[in-house]
This record gives sequence, C-alpha cells and structure tokens, in this order.
Amino acid sequence: MTTKSEAVAEFVDWLAAFLPQDYYENYRRYRWDIPLRRDYQRAAFEGGWLQPTWPREHGGRSLGLRDAMEIRIEGALRSAPKLPSIQGPGVAAPGIRQFGTPAQIERFLVPLLRGDEWWALGMSEPEAGSDFASLRTRAERDGDVFRVNGHKIWTTQAHESRWCTLYARTDPDAPKHRGISCLILDLHSPGVRIEPIRMASISDETFCEVFLDDVEIPLENLLGPVNGGWNVALSSLHHERQMIWIMNWVVIKRGLDAVRTAGAEDSDLYPELGSLLADAEALRATGYRALGNELAGRNSPEADIMKLLGSVTLQRVWELAAAAQGPGSAGDPDLLFERQDALAATIYGGTSEVQRNIIAERLLGLPKG
Ligand SMILES: Cc1cc2nc3c(=O)[nH]c(=O)nc-3n(C[C@H](O)[C@H](O)[C@H](O)COP(=O)(O)OP(=O)(O)OC[C@H]3O[C@@H](n4cnc5c(N)ncnc54)[C@H](O)[C@@H]3O)c2cc1C
Repeated sequence: MTTKSEAVAEFVDWLAAFLPQDYYENYRRYRWDIPLRRDYQRAAFEGGWLQPTWPREHGGRSLGLRDAMEIRIEGALRSAPKLPSIQGPGVAAPGIRQFGTPAQIERFLVPLLRGDEWWALGMSEPEAGSDFASLRTRAERDGDVFRVNGHKIWTTQAHESRWCTLYARTDPDAPKHRGISCLILDLHSPGVRIEPIRMASISDETFCEVFLDDVEIPLENLLGPVNGGWNVALSSLHHERQMIWIMNWVVIKRGLDAVRTAGAEDSDLYPELGSLLADAEALRATGYRALGNELAGRNSPEADIMKLLGSVTLQRVWELAAAAQGPGSAGDPDLLFERQDALAATIYGGTSEVQRNIIAERLLGLPKG
C-alpha cells in the first residue's frame, strides 16, 4: 500500500516527466493542443493516475479518497493538460462502473478511459434543462430493441463522440422521474442526426443538437434498471460535482494572481479582492470538510454549496481581473477566454438559481416560496 505522500510525490514526478520541457513557457499554445491532451489521458490511464481510487485495470491505483483529492489538486495547480473530452471519464465512466453489466464494463470502459472512444451526455432537451425529469425523448420497447424518438440539446462534443448516455422516457404513465431510463446510444446509428451549434465563445467543447428519428438501441444497451435512469443521472452528477470545485478553486487562484499582478496599486480593488480571497479559502476549507464527511461515511451536504460558491466566485474574480487591467483587458485573448469560460460555470451541473433552491429547501429547511 503506497502512503499518501509517496503517491502524491510520485504523481508530481510523473507529471513533470510527461510534460514537454517548454510546457509552462508555451502554455498558451499547449492548452489547446488536442494531440498532447489525448496523449496525457492515455498516459495517465496507463500510469494509474486517471482515476486514482480505481484499480489498475481501470486507470487507477486503488488509492484512498484523500490521496485522490491531493493528486487532483496537485495536477490542477501544475496546470496538467485538460482531458480533451472530460464528460467520458468524469461522468459516463463512473455510471458504467456502478450500473453496467459485466459485458458493458468489458466492452466500454477501457476504450473510454484511454480516450479511444469519446462519450457525450444526452440529458438536456429544449424544454428540459434544470427540470431534467420533464424530458420528452421517448424509448419504446419493440422486440429486442428500444425505438427512440426525440431531441437533445447542449450535448457537448456529440459530433466527435462515438457513444452517448441517452436519457429517455420509457414509462409515460409513471411519475416524471420514475419513468426515465438510461440507454447507451451508438451515435453512428441510422436515424441519429447531429448538428453542432455555432459558439459565441472561445472553446473546443462544441455544443451540439442531437435529433433522434426511429433510432434502434439494442436492449442490452440499457444502463441500470428499466425506469431507473434517475438514479444513474444523480450518481453521474455527483461525480461531476466532486471534480468541479477543485477545477474552480485552481482557476480562482489564478484569477486572484492576475488581479494582484495587474492591480496591486489600485486600492479601489482591495475590498472586492479581500472578499474574493476569503471566499476562495472558504471553498477550499469546505472541500476538505466534504472529504472528511465522506471518509467518515457521513452524508455530505457540501456539494451544492461548493458548486454555487465556486462558480459565482470564479465569475467575480475574472471580472475583477478585467477591471484591474483596465480598458486594455478587452484585447487580451486569455482574459477573454477565462471570462467566457466562467460564465458557463453557473449553468452546467446545476444553475445557481437551482442550487440556491436546493440549499434553501434541503439544507436550511426553509419553506418553498
Ligand atoms: C458548458 C456547458 C456544457 C453542457 N454540457 C451538456 C452536456 O454535455 N449534456 C447535456 O445534456 N447538457 C449539457 N449542458 C446543459 C446544462 O445541463 C443545462 O444548460 C442546465 O441544466 C440548465 O438548463 P437550461 O439551459 O435548459 O436552462 P433552464 O432550465 O431553462 O433555466 C433557464 C433559467 O431559469 C432558471 N431556473 C430554472 N428553473 C428554476 C427554478 N426552479 N427556480 C429558479 N430559477 C430557475 C435557471 O437558473 C436559468 O437561469 C451544458 C451546459 C453548459 C453551460
């Protein structure tokens, strides 16, 4: 059994050996380098650093939660390459591991984790985003297939993906959230039409619309129980949340450095800067408290607070960085990217308004307004 410090130190050395020598000098270029990011994913899988708590054959080293969190933090602090298609390893893979049949795990997991096959998440629809349970895409049993008709939107990188965890209504008579199933859709199937959405921001994570017209999905591609898709989705989002706060915290720290570099002399910025420093620290402390609860097997109510605090703080910090730079900030492409990227953070994985509702009702026990 490797101790915490040995595992973390080994990861740090491994990362340094993996990165090109001029990585930090030319980070602005490397952050968009998809071949490098693909190589990183494959190497992290083979080295056991991709999912540190999982066994070796699934890209991990069977480490504990504490080590896994420190490894993620060290990687983020050192600007480790971003996985080129995060929703596969970050969201779909935990769902397949938890709910998949042995045959599904055997077929899908390793190509996904190595990055050989990309996965999309087919949850949102034009009339069902925050209210995911209202989705209308239908999957009807027809012999040994599900026949699927419907329309998904905001499906990140669907046009580059091979597979999709597709949520569809399999029992229209059941209460909304009890009639949904999760199906593994081959995006190359007849009847699937994928249309990328033109992006207004700098991003390689293109949104798509996915139209499904009489698409056949074999019964063996059901993930989890029939009408059990709600739990598959909740579990997937839980894994997404575990990652989000660390990513947010590191980018907030980078934003704070940018404010201090550009606006060190401007005392008008100090009150907001002080408030942001405190919020960044609160986010980190809450992350460790969540870890403590998980290690003790206690119910951990922190995820919703961290999602809200992390995403709102992220937006505030990059707006302050722009104010610190002054009028010249509009011509800085890196700053523009950070500001645009921060805008999305209060939407994906649960919007801020919805997070506030959850915190008010479930954590604080306030009555519905
Ligand atoms: C970067 C990014 C990547 C994404 N990737 C994917 C993906 O790969 N697959 C996928 O399926 N989806 C994806 N999404 C979509 C995302 O899950 C939805 O945008 C999100 O669930 C919100 O849904 P919506 O956009 O339909 O907004 P709506 O739910 O229509 O909300 C519109 C506004 O109303 C507010 N609102 C809604 N309900 C309430 C309420 N009860 N109380 C108070 N206010 C409310 C919201 O906060 C928001 O301000 C992605 C989104 C982003 C930004």
